[in-house]
Amino acid sequence: MKEKTKLRTTLKKYFGYEKFRPLQEEIIMSILNGEDNLVIMPTGGGKSICFQLPAILLEGLTLVISPLIALMKDQVDALNANGISAAYVNSSQTTSENGAIIEKVISKEIKLLYLAPESLVFFESLSNVTEISLIAVDEAHCISSWGHDFRPAYTQLSFLKNKLPNTPMVALTATADKATREDIAQQLNLKNAKKNISSFNRANLSLEVRPAQDRVKQILDFVISKPNESGIVYCLSRKQTEQLAQRLNQNGCKAAAYHAGLPAEERSKIQENFIHDTTPIICATIAFGMGIDKSNVRWIIHYNLPKNIEGYYQEIGRAGRDGLTAETILFYSYADVIQLRKFAQGSENEIVQLAKLDRILQYAEATSCRRNILLSYFGEIAIEKCENCDVCNYPPTFFDGTVIAQKILSGIFRLQQQEPLNVLIDFLRGSQNNTILNKNYQQLKTYGVAKDLTWKTLQQYIIQIINQGICEIAFHENNKIKLNELSQKVLFKGLKVSLTQPVEVPKATQKTIQKNTTVKNNLFERLRILRLELATAKGVPAYVVFSDATLKSIANERPVSESEFINIEGVGQKKLQDYGHEFITEIITFLNDKKTKSSTPKKNKKDSHKITYALYKEGYTVEEISAQRNLSINTIQSHFVKLYNEGVELSLNDFVTEKEIEAVREAREKVEHPKSLKSFYEYFNEQLDYATIKMALVVIENEQ
Ligand SMILES: [Zn+2]
Repeated sequence: MKEKTKLRTTLKKYFGYEKFRPLQEEIIMSILNGEDNLVIMPTGGGKSICFQLPAILLEGLTLVISPLIALMKDQVDALNANGISAAYVNSSQTTSENGAIIEKVISKEIKLLYLAPESLVFFESLSNVTEISLIAVDEAHCISSWGHDFRPAYTQLSFLKNKLPNTPMVALTATADKATREDIAQQLNLKNAKKNISSFNRANLSLEVRPAQDRVKQILDFVISKPNESGIVYCLSRKQTEQLAQRLNQNGCKAAAYHAGLPAEERSKIQENFIHDTTPIICATIAFGMGIDKSNVRWIIHYNLPKNIEGYYQEIGRAGRDGLTAETILFYSYADVIQLRKFAQGSENEIVQLAKLDRILQYAEATSCRRNILLSYFGEIAIEKCENCDVCNYPPTFFDGTVIAQKILSGIFRLQQQEPLNVLIDFLRGSQNNTILNKNYQQLKTYGVAKDLTWKTLQQYIIQIINQGICEIAFHENNKIKLNELSQKVLFKGLKVSLTQPVEVPKATQKTIQKNTTVKNNLFERLRILRLELATAKGVPAYVVFSDATLKSIANERPVSESEFINIEGVGQKKLQDYGHEFITEIITFLNDKKTKSSTPKKNKKDSHKITYALYKEGYTVEEISAQRNLSINTIQSHFVKLYNEGVELSLNDFVTEKEIEAVREAREKVEHPKSLKSFYEYFNEQLDYATIKMALVVIENEQ
């Protein structure tokens, strides 16, 4: 019990949180007991605290093996911002810089040291000169060739356990599959490691799939409706990333394109600008994102269908790492499916790739909760509907689509199974375009039988019947649509077909867009700017100062004293020291500005006593505050009574003299109604005001 209290005090002091997230406390306890641990947690689940907190409490050094320099730098920045001494040794620093760090390790000035697996030569010298209390292997899936980010240098880590058999080791990863998991434990010699596998559900991410028509316009509308929010658009091709970034910039949204074709220097610059919120939007190929630990990514868009669910889940997982809500949208077109099949064909493991493509296709076409589909893919059994995906929020309505299906199948038959999807749609809708007229298709039966349907709706129906296996796409024959056995059953044997009505998820309207921009003048926005200024001055990303979640709490709670400020989730001792004053000052200025400008007095009244308190803290007397705020002395005094009752640290004796207290004490015995202030007022012949009487009474009551 005592141990747990200690852990929680440390958590609040250094990381600013009151409570642990699921599994964190168990893992930390186990590490402190000297056990090895394998930790599988989704991104954003709070993996790092599992080894950073024990590192603070353990006597010696904690060694952290981490694959990427950018990732190390981020973590070290964040640790230092929390008042924890940490450093890294890697190839980005000079030999003398690295040497200076080793000196500090020896003199025990550093609690956590980050190393790339390639720099393990340092390990030999380190283990001779200092006590290593814990070894953490981050991104441990890099050790496994089963994983998707295999790093050969990671396979050399097996010697660590042999060398220091009694030092606890913790391996952490966000990659779920079982083969990788077992490979990690085996390769690191963690025979008896405790396995901690937390749920892969990221409930704060909303899931939505939209048809790809007009996707550029849809993306523009979406992004414009979210000013100042950071997000990533994943595209399949380099050209798309560039075109889209250009369109966004033309529309006033700051965006950059990122792909493997850019010079390394430019890429790291773009990445840096994204992390520091200078360029909030990135249009990227999947090359982007690995090793970025930016906590305030608010949305992820997939311009194209991803290759598989693993990749998709990893990419959307880059949003909302601070635990706040984040949005994800996947645009889905059949043209992408065709393209992706082409990529997969002839590749090394074609069968696996095509099977994985089928699974993501099923996801995109889902008519039941999308989150359940994802979780079941990762082997988790979900029970209830998530209520945070488009299918849960706008459930599809099924109808008897037999007649529509028959029309479509007849169309395929009349076109002699020689045409792809778009020609089939044009034909059924009675289009008079060149392809149709040149081939004289307008002469055929069933031409125009579906002209009452829009192009988009008809396309969706055809895709639905393809996915139900009622007809097929011949990918090897220029994607011609073909009939099969099931088609015959629908056409001639009375087999019924159920289709779903295309669902229109309401988009952000002009109204909400405007609403969002007026909110810009709110406190959150001012605090966001202050955060950016402080971060820039320190050369760290904004979220290292405070996460979006913490910033939101500050904006909501409006702390105006240090004791209130430290109560905010995400504010620890060091951050209170470093930033408390600036943020409190900004809040007070905001409250004062509001007081002068606002026409909603009710809200002002609520915070009025806080302004009084802020001025009091700056050394003003009751009279001065009254004059400055143009409020009566009585009102100001009543503010102090209120503050006192709210538990704010202040001594009422500052406002009421000993003599007055004594007088009121005497009066209490004599007045007729000691509960009524008026009795006292009259007793003193109106010579002592109400607020002073009240204050004296509060002081007296608190003595008892
Ligand atoms: Zn759902």
